[in-house]
Amino acid sequence: MALIVQKYGGSSVSDAVSVQRVARRIVETQRAGNDVVVIVSAMGDTTDELLDLAAQITATPPQRELDILLTAGERISMSLLAMAIHELGVRAKSFTGQQAGVITDAVYGRAKIVDVVPSRIAETLERGEVAIIAGFQGVHADTNDVTTLGRGGSDTTAVAIAAGLNADVCEIYTDVDGVFTADPRIVPAARKIDHLTYEEMLELAASGAKVMALRAVEYARRYAVPVHVRSSFIAALGTWISGSSDDPTILNPTEREAPVEAPIISGVAHDDSEAKITVVGVPDIPGMAARIFEVVADAGANLDMIVQNVSAAQTGLTDISFTLPEADGAVALHALTQVQGEIDYTFLQYDDQIGKLSLVGAGMKTSPGVSARFFGALRDAGINIEMISTSEIRISVVTRADSLQDAVRAIHTAFGLDADAEATVYAGTGR
Ligand code: ADP
Ligand code: ASP
Ligand code: MG
Repeated sequence: MALIVQKYGGSSVSDAVSVQRVARRIVETQRAGNDVVVIVSAMGDTTDELLDLAAQITATPPQRELDILLTAGERISMSLLAMAIHELGVRAKSFTGQQAGVITDAVYGRAKIVDVVPSRIAETLERGEVAIIAGFQGVHADTNDVTTLGRGGSDTTAVAIAAGLNADVCEIYTDVDGVFTADPRIVPAARKIDHLTYEEMLELAASGAKVMALRAVEYARRYAVPVHVRSSFIAALGTWISGSSDDPTILNPTEREAPVEAPIISGVAHDDSEAKITVVGVPDIPGMAARIFEVVADAGANLDMIVQNVSAAQTGLTDISFTLPEADGAVALHALTQVQGEIDYTFLQYDDQIGKLSLVGAGMKTSPGVSARFFGALRDAGINIEMISTSEIRISVVTRADSLQDAVRAIHTAFGLDADAEATVYAGTGR
């Protein structure tokens, strides 16, 4: 008998019929002799619709109220799912994040899980019932206020509950067959990857592959939770995420008879949710970058890529550009505007029409041919590059947003990742 944690994403429960389909799958898992704990997301695009509603009321909703609003989405799906399971003759109980013992810090909108106390879930399982938990939400212990974990946070709830209950596996059910070498919505020739290490999935998620939320992958790695990303629409196996690249028994399936030292490409990730801020005319003296990034950090904005140009000799001024989530754009701009006199820069530029593409894989730094092929493919596709950053296992570039998809396809083809068959996307709007 195994303890299986299953997470169903919004596109898997977008309407009543889908909720019933998912309920059948859960009941089958339980009837096969397993204990089952289910984490569920809000139905379809409910979270976005709730955000749109709030935006019609105010441009600056109080964070506490926004979190309460958003947790409603998952509460709808959890209770409907419990009802659907009852209809199939199996007892099930739904729990909010708070009831399930998901304890977070107090940072509304992107709270971190600080503890999981799933005693009510354990009791539910002992009674032979299915436990359904609302994803993406928790409670701050001191204030008793509900919090949300950030977009895609149901994945994090699932992994945290799996770790807290010492589950045998955490299954992430979604609208595609697993993790692919690129987003199958953009690259129909993307191929499904059978196995990824935590590090590889971390890098893909950090680069924008939203099939699994970054924090969920971090959590899974820390607590060694085996994760299985798969389709809720068919029975086939998906992508296993486990182990580390240091473990010689782990072989990456994309390693197609490559010579031992050749780079192992995991895939191409893209992100169209970032913006670029350029601080123009910064005095080229020590301490300026430090001050700019202190201000941005104090504003609570997350940074991604950073580029500083060589200063023009005549002026002694330089430009510093960085990318950040679009959602953090306004606070970062506001904070920088406050210190214009102090830093003495000339002006700020804001650009949200950018896209980021990343090629992810082990051994890239030591394979000089990779960069040549990467930039050659972008040139051949006529794509202009605005920023570049590299690491041991990643090359990222910023392009215009409207050429991002072409860039992703060009790189996918150039690195021989195209499959013969077309990937299936079962549902979802890609929102
Ligand atoms: P859910 O509602 O199940 O949480 P998400 O929309 O959050 O689903 O994540 C699934 C989506 O992630 C897919 O429909 C796909 O468009 C997108 N995606 C992006 N990159 C990848 C990738 N490398 N492999 C698979 N899916 C990806
Ligand atoms: N419903 C939340 C979101 O849309 C959480 C999730 O689906 O994981 O981001
Ligand atoms: Mg998701």
